[in-house]
Amino acid sequence: MSLLKVAKAVYNNVGYQCRLLCEIIYSRQCGVCRQEIDTGYFCESCRKNFVLGKVCGQVENLDAAFMLYKYQQELQQAIHNVKFEGQKNLLPLLREEAQLAWSCELEKLLGEIDIITCVPTSPQRKQQRGFDVPQEIFAFLDGERWQEDLLKRVRNTMPLFELEPALRRQEVAGCFEVQGIVEGKHVLICDDIFTTGSTLNEAALVLKRAGASSVSALAFTASKDNW
Ligand SMILES: [Zn+2]
Repeated sequence: MSLLKVAKAVYNNVGYQCRLLCEIIYSRQCGVCRQEIDTGYFCESCRKNFVLGKVCGQVENLDAAFMLYKYQQELQQAIHNVKFEGQKNLLPLLREEAQLAWSCELEKLLGEIDIITCVPTSPQRKQQRGFDVPQEIFAFLDGERWQEDLLKRVRNTMPLFELEPALRRQEVAGCFEVQGIVEGKHVLICDDIFTTGSTLNEAALVLKRAGASSVSALAFTASKDNW
């Protein structure tokens, strides 16, 4: 481990302890305006700028796609900090935001779903981070239908944001394997960001090849092109 990495780990850990301490002493603050809040990452007023609540019909292999929040500004930064700066203390707050965005429409959708799963992080990245972001954010859906290991990454892929949209599909082709029985089942796949949908579409493709009746996606955030 390089000195920089050690320094970063110490800094993040100190940051985590401080945040916990701050929450005990000063209570929680909105990630945008710093107003005191009880739950989630935003105050009610700031949340309005981030809520997307978009429900799309068919997107290639996906029968439907549900997008909860706009991937922008402070929320984009928070996800970045979780994924690349190791700030896992933000995860429970983001999970509460996902729960707050849960609407009657989504509840209705869930009625038809047999299996809920997540886009799996590559084992290498998961080991580095110590957690799987989509799994952590959507952990509140945990229940009988939750099968977190339904999809397995059989090949590592490059971070897709580094690639042109046309190359993303190529990069993810064949990267997943289905581990479980999905024949005749309605599957919901959760992910943290919906950008071009390449990853979710690839996941839907392998699930449908394995016999799934329908595959829908639930994304915590969606990038601007999808608004
Ligand atoms: Zn606020």
